Amino acid sequence: MKDVGSVIVIGGGVVGASCAHYLQQRGAHVTIVEKKTFGAACSHGNCGFVCPSHVLPLAEPGAIRSTMKAMLSPKSPFSIKPRLDVKLWMWLLNFARHCNEHDMLAGGHALQALLMSSMDEYERLVRESVVNCEWQKKGLLYVYKEQQRLDAYESTNQLLSETFHEPAIKYTGKQLEEHYPSLKPGQAGAWFYEHDAHLRPDKLMESWKAKLLNSGAIIKEDCEVQQIIQTDGQAVSLQTNQGELTADRFVVATGALTPFLEKFLGCKIPIQPGKGYSLTMPRPKVCPTVPMIFPERRVAVTPMESGYRLGSIMEFAGYDESIKPERLKLLREGADAFLKDPYCEPVEEEWFGWRPMTYDSLPIIDRSPSLQNLWIAAGHNMIGLSMSTGTGKLIAEMMSGDKPHIDPTPFRVTRF
Ligand SMILES: Cc1cc2nc3c(=O)[nH]c(=O)nc-3n(C[C@H](O)[C@H](O)[C@H](O)COP(=O)(O)OP(=O)(O)OC[C@H]3O[C@@H](n4cnc5c(N)ncnc54)[C@H](O)[C@@H]3O)c2cc1C
Repeated sequence: MKDVGSVIVIGGGVVGASCAHYLQQRGAHVTIVEKKTFGAACSHGNCGFVCPSHVLPLAEPGAIRSTMKAMLSPKSPFSIKPRLDVKLWMWLLNFARHCNEHDMLAGGHALQALLMSSMDEYERLVRESVVNCEWQKKGLLYVYKEQQRLDAYESTNQLLSETFHEPAIKYTGKQLEEHYPSLKPGQAGAWFYEHDAHLRPDKLMESWKAKLLNSGAIIKEDCEVQQIIQTDGQAVSLQTNQGELTADRFVVATGALTPFLEKFLGCKIPIQPGKGYSLTMPRPKVCPTVPMIFPERRVAVTPMESGYRLGSIMEFAGYDESIKPERLKLLREGADAFLKDPYCEPVEEEWFGWRPMTYDSLPIIDRSPSLQNLWIAAGHNMIGLSMSTGTGKLIAEMMSGDKPHIDPTPFRVTRF
């Protein structure tokens, strides 16, 4: 194992925090540089699912047709703000190119390796009290109102069972009424993934922060990296709004904002911000006992120990920071269609986050092709929380020159 020396991790999200932790474990002196507040971007208000069941990439056969159809409805949770943005249209074109069975299966296997590794790591971190985040392993329930849609999932279940060894349990509407009293009667049924877990994302980030600081890390907030200064194929220092910072090695873990650093990285970073929303509130009286997704409305419900969250929506609207009330209404309406007690006032937080979306649904976990001492860990799409710990472990292994515990090839940045 190589001595990794001093490392600056750019970005204080869940991916940056995980990289920092695993690098510290290998003896690195770590500084995290965060443009705003540690843990306050996309890693703050997400749905908190740690879900190895989400192995299939978003780009799958038929995805374009079903998305276009859904977008015709004014209540669609998916939208693209029409505009002249070459990068967005190239992204969409490449997304369409990946909507085939071969790419879906190859992507699925790569994602599964990272998801499984991350789940093992989370379980260890929780068991060893490294993080304290309201961890619960209670599964994830996909509830359907329409029989036809419930049954249509059969082929996906077959694929997941046979190819990925990730079978779901099917419940009838009657069984749902017996086991899940928070649901309104009359649902067609559900598919249940018993091995998924969930946590409270803001507690996780709080806990990571305390753990990293206790172990000697430095966290610099309100510190934006504006430039990566380089000579002879090495990153030498970072130009920030708080002056110049130097280190032996660097990790770029800047989520959806990574394209702003593209010109310094020597490679293409085709990441688009996929904006999602959530509402956080106290637990309703008749609270679901397990996390749920309502695929017909694309709304997710997370019953946390200390609260309750509704989340969803995918807007490709650039780096737009507004919170649209009509989007939040969709969350409430979606939950209302399925749950007896769908939400609870007062809402404590209305939130949005930019998911770092790549067109092939895979993250980038790789060394920069032009800077020998800089690694990139970004583009974790809709499941960055679920893939963060495996990513951190992989980055630390790559940087120390150790054999990676999973094959990093599918995550190479040169694939674009
Ligand atoms: C509604 C919603 C629900 C979701 N639900 C789930 C879920 O249930 N399970 C799951 O696994 N995932 C979920 N996700 C996805 C997940 O939240 C993201 O994939 C993940 O948070 C990405 O983490 P990150 O560390 O890469 O990015 P971020 O958390 O965005 O962190 C990147 C950080 O880098 C900083 N930064 C950027 N540029 C600079 C710079 N130049 N200098 C310094 N700092 C910089 C930013 O300020 C930010 O803090 C959800 C997302 C949304 C929006």
